[in-house]
Amino acid sequence: MISVPEALFIISSIHYAPVSKNVFLKNAKKLTLSKDIASPMHMPPFRQSAMDGYALLMHPENTNVYQIIGEVKAGDTANYRLKPGQGVRIFTGARVPDDADTIVIQEHVSRSDDTIIINKEIHKNQNIRPVGEQIKKGDCALVKGTTLTPAAIGFLAGLGINKVDVYVPPKVAIITTGNELVAPGEALYDGKIYESNSIQLEAVLEQLSIKNITKYKVQDEYQKTKKTIQEAIQSNDLVLISGGISVGDYDFVKQALQELNTEELFYKIKQKPGKPLFFGKNGSSLIFALPGNPASSLTCFYIYVLPVIEKMLGTFNTGLTRTMKIITTDFIKKGDRAQFLKAKVHNEQVEILEGQSSAMLYTYAIANALVYIPEAINKVSKGNEVETILLPS
Ligand code: AMP
Ligand code: MG
Repeated sequence: MISVPEALFIISSIHYAPVSKNVFLKNAKKLTLSKDIASPMHMPPFRQSAMDGYALLMHPENTNVYQIIGEVKAGDTANYRLKPGQGVRIFTGARVPDDADTIVIQEHVSRSDDTIIINKEIHKNQNIRPVGEQIKKGDCALVKGTTLTPAAIGFLAGLGINKVDVYVPPKVAIITTGNELVAPGEALYDGKIYESNSIQLEAVLEQLSIKNITKYKVQDEYQKTKKTIQEAIQSNDLVLISGGISVGDYDFVKQALQELNTEELFYKIKQKPGKPLFFGKNGSSLIFALPGNPASSLTCFYIYVLPVIEKMLGTFNTGLTRTMKIITTDFIKKGDRAQFLKAKVHNEQVEILEGQSSAMLYTYAIANALVYIPEAINKVSKGNEVETILLPS
């Protein structure tokens, strides 16, 4: 059995070289760039009006009366030649005539026929977006390792880019073990329970933009367990096994993994929940055997599996955000294992929730954080700061 920091160190030492692929930008949301992107153009590509108003060539005598000789709408290509004291009507996004050196907004002007009178002081270059103001051609638009948010996708689209190099998300297998499990929607007979771990894991994987998921279901039977794990290892980068990893007579996962020559990176962590977590490597596949209890399974996923998946996705993230919060009540820890407690953060405070059993998901369903109590700490007093791990929504 190893400690939480030891397990996290092993996780952080894992090397994984994700594969890169060129994909359409519209299919790249939430994926991570595998190469720097150089801007193929100046943005904006021409001097652009930032406002609706009048583009003028300023008169050296600072007159406030200008003659308007034309109009430029967004998208027009006309380039009016101007003399000092002349200007054109212009609209947001339109190309500013080369001769113009300022734009006055329409709210600061009174117009009669082709003449305007300006009732505010004007300055050179005001309301004109210079060529390449946002980015210059050839400059780095986004660096390798950037995860493509909607804004990043919009930014690249605005530079005319429609294909990008991204890391290919891993292929993931989810194996559920347990004779007692029935799929939601089916009839529930005595002694059976509804299977929720694979649905929960699939949901969290999909949030991470992992779509290539294969689900397997296996009874608590040794040969079948071994065969299913072997099949999953052969065609997946990451294998997540739910249940059957503990010490019961019908827990066959550990033995099957051993028989399949899986390299054990760790088995059993001094923590609550999730003591029997297994992490190993078989060929190029990484394998986690998660405890069957639903809350343990999810906590182990967030703390240990997520940082590994982030490496596979090529992001520089390392798990969930950790921060210090003030605990609202005294907490006395029973036993000597480190604990991850379901909790609720309210601004700077954190409340430990009732119902910490690893079989209970209700508490998890309403929690927005986990409080980490290290192995060496037995008591935390109200008002003290505790390490708080923020859960994704
Ligand atoms: P195990 O780790 O297989 O000993 O399972 C521990 C507990 O978790 C048992 O009460 C199981 O019934 C329950 N459990 C195991 N797998 C699942 C699952 N996929 N969905 C919901 N509960 C499960
Ligand atoms: Mg079981």
